[in-house]
Amino acid sequence: MPVTIDKPGHSFSDATGSPEALSRRAALQRLARIAALPMIAAAFDISHAAPLTYDLKPVGIGEGVWVLYGVPEPIERSNGGAIANITIFDTRDGAVIVDTGPSKRYGVALQALARELTGKSVVRVYLTHFHPDHVFGNQGFEAAAIAAPQGVIDGLTSLGEDFASAMYHAAGDWMRGTQLMLPGKVVADGVEEIGGRRFALHALSGHTPSDLAILEEVSGVLVAGDLVFLDRAPTTPHADLELWRASLDRLGAIKAAHVVPGHGPVEGAPRGLEQTRDWLGMVEEKIRAAFERGLTINEAMQEPLPEWVGKIALARYEYERSVMHFFPRLEAGQWPRVDSKN
Ligand SMILES: [Zn+2]
Repeated sequence: MPVTIDKPGHSFSDATGSPEALSRRAALQRLARIAALPMIAAAFDISHAAPLTYDLKPVGIGEGVWVLYGVPEPIERSNGGAIANITIFDTRDGAVIVDTGPSKRYGVALQALARELTGKSVVRVYLTHFHPDHVFGNQGFEAAAIAAPQGVIDGLTSLGEDFASAMYHAAGDWMRGTQLMLPGKVVADGVEEIGGRRFALHALSGHTPSDLAILEEVSGVLVAGDLVFLDRAPTTPHADLELWRASLDRLGAIKAAHVVPGHGPVEGAPRGLEQTRDWLGMVEEKIRAAFERGLTINEAMQEPLPEWVGKIALARYEYERSVMHFFPRLEAGQWPRVDSKN
């Protein structure tokens, strides 16, 4: 059975002071717990009034395939959390969507857009991983149509409420009415044929404990999720860099005409895979070197970055966040070098 988590106190439909709303103190305590969550800029200014309509602009990348580009920014009130790429496929049997965006409002608009583009209803939604910028539009769709690996569902079950609170604080009123909604279908490695298309599902990991990449074989479009970032710095709050590199190896072996990164432009060449690998290597080496030189975590955060990352959006921001993620692991002796790297 699909499960919708809908507990009092976790609805955003009334966050202005009713007994059901989180108190400010509880919210701050929760924020402290979730400081390490992905791509979320702290935002306490609740007076800012943003125009609350997502301007969804589909860009065709193949016949009957569109991408909605996320902006290369952290989640904040100015963008409503619409920072991740979303992919829409037309099939004979209906629309297929990969990832649902940051909020109920986004998901509802996405569902309407897919119907407008394809003239059909949405028959399948895949989720690439459990991070909030990719899954909180689920309410725009039927739970039974939403599919993800079990690991994504497990991650949502354990962290989804914290993600929801963090999103509310970062994106504010854009989140009104948004609640965590779990997928109704579990998928694993294999091929799903839908309306003349073939979706080859690759259950991977590394960016998070469970990452789904999808090659649609007819169009040659590879939707890589957040295993690939391009010209936008990768986020690492739940990353295992060894597993991530192994997944990049797997993706590199797939012949694809177009690679859709989780964040950044679609390209034919595997530049996103290479840039992501280079970034992860740079971050790991830099943080290890800072630790071995005896720097403090604050000093490690201030280390200069190589010139080549100057063209990558949010490089400094995400590097500093990666220091926060990995430096404590080094201090605790929990981030040993693997033998193959020596
Ligand atoms: Zn993302």
